[in-house]
Formats: sequence, C-alpha cells, structure tokens
Amino acid sequence: MARIPINLSTGKLEQASNIIVGIDLGTTNSLVAYLKEGKARAVSDEAGKNSLVPSIVHFAQDERVVVGEKARAFLTTEPQNTIYSVKRLMGKSYKDMEEHQQYFGYKIIDEDTESLVKVRVKDKFYTPIELSAMILKELKQRIERDLKASVSKAVITVPAYFNDAQRQATRDAGKLAGLDVLRIINEPTAASLAYGIGLDMDASSTIAVYDLGGGTFDISILHIEQGIFEVLSTHGDTFLGGDDFDKAIVDYWMEEHGFNFEENEQGKRFQQALRLAAEQAKKTLSTRDDFQTTVAAYTCKLTKEQFNALIQPLVERTLQSCKQALKDAKLTVDDIDNVVMVGGSTRVPLVKESVAALFGKPVFDEVNPDEVVALGAAIQADVLAGNNKDILLLDVTPLSLGIETMGGLMDVIIPRNSKVPSKAGRQYTTSVDGQTRLKVAVFQGERDLVKDNRKLGEFILEGIPPMPAGLPKIEIQFILDADGILQVKAKELRSGVEQSIKVRSTYGISEEEMAKMLIDSIQNAKQDMEVRSLLEARNEANNILLSADKFLTQNAALLSEEEITKTKELTNLLRIATEETDKDSINAAMDNLNEFTNPLAHRVMDVNIKEALSGKKV
Ligand code: AMP
Repeated sequence: MARIPINLSTGKLEQASNIIVGIDLGTTNSLVAYLKEGKARAVSDEAGKNSLVPSIVHFAQDERVVVGEKARAFLTTEPQNTIYSVKRLMGKSYKDMEEHQQYFGYKIIDEDTESLVKVRVKDKFYTPIELSAMILKELKQRIERDLKASVSKAVITVPAYFNDAQRQATRDAGKLAGLDVLRIINEPTAASLAYGIGLDMDASSTIAVYDLGGGTFDISILHIEQGIFEVLSTHGDTFLGGDDFDKAIVDYWMEEHGFNFEENEQGKRFQQALRLAAEQAKKTLSTRDDFQTTVAAYTCKLTKEQFNALIQPLVERTLQSCKQALKDAKLTVDDIDNVVMVGGSTRVPLVKESVAALFGKPVFDEVNPDEVVALGAAIQADVLAGNNKDILLLDVTPLSLGIETMGGLMDVIIPRNSKVPSKAGRQYTTSVDGQTRLKVAVFQGERDLVKDNRKLGEFILEGIPPMPAGLPKIEIQFILDADGILQVKAKELRSGVEQSIKVRSTYGISEEEMAKMLIDSIQNAKQDMEVRSLLEARNEANNILLSADKFLTQNAALLSEEEITKTKELTNLLRIATEETDKDSINAAMDNLNEFTNPLAHRVMDVNIKEALSGKKV
C-alpha cells in the first residue's frame, strides 16, 4: 500500500520530510506538539509560557471568532456566545445529550432525537465538527508561528472509548481546519508512547493508563505487542474530574462560614471568586501541607488532611472504575506491568498514592501530565513521517472507502490510513415504505459528495420483505485484505437476504492521482462541509415534514382548528426553507415546528394511552 509524500499547500509531490504535528484535542484544553532534535516538545503561546490552549470558542459581537485563553473571560459574561466542552458533543445525537443539557451554558439544538446535535449561537447553527475545527485552526496557527512554516499534516488523539462516529467527526474537523489527518490515535496509546512504551518492537507489556482531567475520568487497559496497541478494556466517568475537587472545597467553606449565594450579580461574583480560591488551594496542597487566603474579607483555610478527606469519596470512585476495567479485561493487578498517569488532576498526591497502592507499584508520572498525550502524538507523527527507522509502519489503506447514502453523500466505512487487513460495518435502513431493493454503490475518496469520489462498483440487494420505512435492518460490511481487495457484503438481518461484490481498491489509480484526490479534498473541505450540512438538514427536514403530515391526518380529531392551521403554516414555512440553500434557515424552521408540535404530540400521546388503558379494562 502506498504512503504518498505530498506538500498539501502547494500540491507538489516532495520528500516526506516536512513536520507532522501531534494534537491533543481535549475537553478542557488542547495542545500541539512536534519532535525537535529527537525530543517531543509542546508549543507554547507567544509569551513562551503556556502550552495549553483552553478548548473554548467565543463568537464576538463583530462576528470574529476568538479561541483559547482570550475566549475564557466570556464564559461568565456571555455564556450564550461562548462554547466550551465541545468534545462532549462530537458525534452525539440530541438523545445522547438530553440529560446533560443543563451542564451547558449555550443552546444545544435538535428535538429530533436521532440526528446529530448542533449548537445555536445567535441566529447561526454550528456542528461540533465546525467548532472543533476552529480550535484546531488556532493550534495550526500557533505551530506555524513557532516554526515559521506552514503545517498541513497531523495526528490527532481521541479517547479510547470514542466510537466510529466520534472518530470520523474528529477527522472531519481536522480536514475542515486544513489538516490532512494521517491518523487518529487513542489518548492512552499516545501517553504510553511518550514514556517510550511500544517503541521497542521486541518487547510486550500490559499497561494501565489512568487519565483524570478537569471534567472527565477514564482508565484504559492496553496490551502492546510488536509495537501494536490493543485496547483490552476502558472504564470511566465522563462527569468526574478536578472540577469536582474544587466544588468539594467550595461546599466545605460555604458550610463552615454559613455562606448562602444570592441569585444576583454579586452572588455570582462571590461564587466565582470562591471557586478560583478553591482551585488555588487544591494546587497549593499538591506541594504544601496547608493553605490560607481571604475571599471578600473572609478567611478561607484548608489543610492537606482536610482536603484529602473531602476528595476521598471521589478518588474511591475512580479506583472502582480501575477494578472494573481490570475485571472486563479478565486481568488482575499483578498482570499490569506499568501504570501511566495522564491529566492535570493526577498531580494531587492522594490520587497518585491511591492509584499506586491499588496497582501495587509506583506510577509513571515524570512527564508533564497535561502534555503527555500531545507529546506521544508527536512521537507517533514522527514515526509516520518515517524518521524513526527502527519502527515498522503497518500497511495502511491510502484512501477512504465508503458507500453512497441519501442525497449523494459519502458515508465512510473504512477511513483512509486504516491498517490492512481491515474489517468494518454499519447498519442502514430503508427510506420509503415497502421498499424491496437497495442499491449499494461503493466509492473511494475523501470528498463529502460521492460524485467527487471514485466509483469502485455497485450492486443491488433484492428481496427485502416490504416493511414500513426505517424497519429493515441492512448490515453493510467492508472486508479489505492485505492486497487491497475489498469485499462488500449487504445483508437484511430480519429476512436474511444477502448479496456481495468484490473490487480491487487500488486498481487503475496511480500515486499521483491519489495525491490529487487528497489535495482536492482539503482544498474543498469548507465547501464540501457546507454542502454536507445543507443536505443533512434537508434530509432531516423531509423526515420531519413526513411525520408532521402523518400526525395531522391521524390526530385531526384531537386538535383544535387553530392548532391545525398553525402546524400547517409552520410545515409550509419549513417546506419553503428546504427549497432554499441556507441550512440555518432550515434548522430554524425545524426548530419552530418542533417547538410548536412537541406539546401537541405529548397531549395526543397521553389521550391515546388513556384510551388504550380504558379499552383494556372493558
Ligand atoms: P486537564 O483537563 O488534564 O488539563 O486537567 C485540568 C485539571 O487539573 C483542572 O481541574 C486543574 O485544576 C487540575 N490541576 C492542574 N494543576 C494541578 C495541580 N498542581 N494540582 C492539582 N490539580 C491540578
């Protein structure tokens, strides 16, 4: 399989000597690193002080987008225009996020529970991919300033528990930021690489990576053999981290002094000041035994012993997760060779001591726990660049493979740079009632619309039993062997009908042509993404229009004249919006329709349930 050395900014083929950067795209902070004279280093801000870029995006009054430290101040003053924790939304549907909506200070949109979430800022809608791309662009600019050269290739890390959709979303964000994402790697894998684990081809080991950040915790158990990392298990809590330590301290001081926050500006400011003092206390107690400060003329004190007692139950929860991860991997603590610490909160001595005690060995904590993931990503990037001759690169597939879905969109099943042989699958369904045939068209390439990619073949799955749209379960599997032969299988799981095809993925395409396809995809990323969001919004709107029409015909008797007229008016507006080309106005029209019809739907459902129940009694 080919690895293509090209300069993506000029489009010229050249030696693969240009730097590939490693990026840790984090929930709270992100950072970028690269290998300089054999040593991984994280890139600092212009003042040369801080390597962390807060993962915060602020939309200023003058439409400017502000990212990082400069955006942080707006979290309290303009929460509705300031987006944080966007990583939590990557590849998620509204249904996934419903119970956590109150956690976010900004508005997450989508009442249609199955589709992907968007964020509304003023009158525009942004996908988590677009927002992450803004953070990645900031990192790209930071390293370009540092290197005084353009950078276009990157390795980006994601949590080991990220699913396909979340990984694909991260890839798309990279592409949109003008980066050719050579590989997505797991954060625990990167952290291990930073400690040199996995770089010796002859060594094999089993390790635990304990990652406690500001707002999330996860533990991963990995097995490494011949430089290949296998995730044996992961466990964690996506809402547990150092912020909870701060909160425990705030609660303690409040109780001690009998504070009560007023629901006004002053109350908010006092709460914020206490929170900052609590974080300062926590950090101080990582190296000292006591802490004292004054907040609004009150003396706030804390000893290390008191702090340890406060966070003990939280630390205990992380230890329970570790035990569960070991159990899931069918291992005991004795099977673990090393424990790697990641995340700012692992600086807390009680955390370190408790983890070391659980695993019965000292933990690896010499590398800065905030930077360790990005540094490891930079090491992996250097290996990909071919600079480390001792390490064998596994063969990878040079272009993504996927199928055509609604509206001519490309749905990637095996992303480019996946190891070969490789196997992946996904489930689909029908879009029309009674549909008995499904065309499966296989494409190769990086563009969002199949018409811009290369068609490898197609076949028709026939004999699907007629069912309402959405009911059939059609599994499509891609099996790519080491010689680049791709077998595509489609099977309707309820009836068992199946069909398959074999194609040669590299047949009739030269390295130059592949390089050109990659360059095109990056150059057209923004435009492609816009077309994709428009088509997705239209597909979604069409589904909603169908359900709204069905709803009106089936429930006319239960609705008032006025409700029917208003619903029809809103569906008409949505229909008109779908004929235009502005995704934001389609989203807004969907929003309006959903907002109006949701209470009606609930009411109708209640009546139907009551009727069903009384029917039963008779
Ligand atoms: P991360 O998400 O990995 O950047 O971790 C950020 C978390 O680490 C925040 O909750 C910080 O308050 C915490 N943190 C940073 N430095 C220290 C320190 N010296 N001692 C304790 N916690 C820290």
